[in-house]
Amino acid sequence: MRIDNEKKPVLGIDLGTTYSAISRWTEKGPKVYQNPRREYTWASVVYYDERQEKPLVGNLALKRALIDPENAVIGVKRMMDDANQKIKLGNKEFTPVEISSMILRDVYEYAEKSTPGFDPAGVVVTVPYYFTALQNTNTSEAATAAGLNVLGIIQEPVAAALAYGVHEEETLNDEIIMVFDLGGGTFDLTIFRFTNSEEKLTFEVLATGGDDRLGGLDFDQVLSEYIEKKAGLNLQNESAENVLKAKTALLEAAKEAKEILSFEETTDIIKPNILPGQHIEIEIEREEFEQCMVRYFNKMDAIIDTVIDKASLSKSDIDRVIKVGGSSRIPKIEEILTQKLGSNKTFGNIDPDLCVAEGASIYAAFLDERVEWSKEIEIKTATAHALGIGLGDGRFSMLIPGNRRTPCEATRIFTTNTDNCEELDIDLYQGSSKFIKNNKKIGTIHVSGLTKRPAGELDIEITFRINQQQTVSVTIVQKESNIRKIENVKLA
Ligand code: ADP
Ligand code: MG
Repeated sequence: MRIDNEKKPVLGIDLGTTYSAISRWTEKGPKVYQNPRREYTWASVVYYDERQEKPLVGNLALKRALIDPENAVIGVKRMMDDANQKIKLGNKEFTPVEISSMILRDVYEYAEKSTPGFDPAGVVVTVPYYFTALQNTNTSEAATAAGLNVLGIIQEPVAAALAYGVHEEETLNDEIIMVFDLGGGTFDLTIFRFTNSEEKLTFEVLATGGDDRLGGLDFDQVLSEYIEKKAGLNLQNESAENVLKAKTALLEAAKEAKEILSFEETTDIIKPNILPGQHIEIEIEREEFEQCMVRYFNKMDAIIDTVIDKASLSKSDIDRVIKVGGSSRIPKIEEILTQKLGSNKTFGNIDPDLCVAEGASIYAAFLDERVEWSKEIEIKTATAHALGIGLGDGRFSMLIPGNRRTPCEATRIFTTNTDNCEELDIDLYQGSSKFIKNNKKIGTIHVSGLTKRPAGELDIEITFRINQQQTVSVTIVQKESNIRKIENVKLA
């Protein structure tokens, strides 16, 4: 066990789609770093053009992105499933891992600058619950490339629940917790069973759901369209460049108005010369924003029902709701949650912008065996995606369903569909469709040396195993041919 040390801390980084934050563990609990502008969050944005020596990262990059959106990347987290794609900024090309690495480095450097002699023991980076093993690996590689010693990764809702659980540890027993995370890019809902015993805190994921294209960016979009109409702007006869600039400025105005409307009933939007000779000068009421949002509120409403159902619970079983993500500040959300689950369920003692980073640093302290940490943390998760194999006729045969508690395994017997078949390619898929064409191929296992038999007479036993670290392995056994093949599979 090691003692906490300001110069050799353990850190947690919330690498968000739109904003990131960094926290360290102290004896008194997690502490989030501020940047020089006294803000706790950094825009997850990178900007680069030919005139610069090196890319700009963070809030300044976001400012440049508004003037020159083509040389900026916002939302790189949505590209982490393909490490090889190229993002062109200025005259250079970057991969998503490189961009993420710059963001992590930027966030980290503020922490470093604030503490002379800074030499952290390690960092935990957060990932969305639905991230596949490949996306997790890419995130972890980005952190390593940023020069950080990665102690581990933790899923965002687990981190938020952990921050809550540790915060309230003295008074909590067993609870059903719902983490409601509405950020910039996505909506993620997770239901946990939390148990607090003498020796450990246990978080068991009961069900998850959400929408990976539902968040603050979408709200900015619908509100900006509304503002454009209400202000009577005419983009018809403008150059493409002017239109792009106007749209970007509209989005920025919408975002600002949206955030103010979480606290005020009305706000003015005044933007002179958004297009040559055209101005915006309007007032917007919270109710108008809520009107624009109706379809999103309905979607969230339906997702809450589905996830509660998936957890085999009823609404009254939910003891606590933890609101996470900047967009969870929208007052209507509280209204929806109260209406659905009853009043006094949401927990207010935790900052929706910071609890994910805080939870990550708590987990880092646990992994690094910091002395202040007395309890074990146990996280029981579930598979995010179903796994199985492709059948000859294009159908998907599922072995492990989505949302299954891990570790787990499943075995099924298959057979050949041609006579005297000596070798086979077994295609592995992830996804929930009955047809392989709608699912994602995650690998192929080649088996050769099969004993010759008529079609349908050779039993091939296939086993999928997922361990606690979410590593997937597939075992193929064919007894008569003396074949036993085990391969690890990287999820796509
Ligand atoms: P992510 O984790 O997806 O990066 P965050 O949790 O940091 O995102 O949330 C960022 C989003 O929250 C942005 O779209 C931002 O406009 C929105 N947001 C921040 N503050 C408010 C507010 N007061 N009201 C409504 N939305 C807000
Ligand atoms: Mg987030």
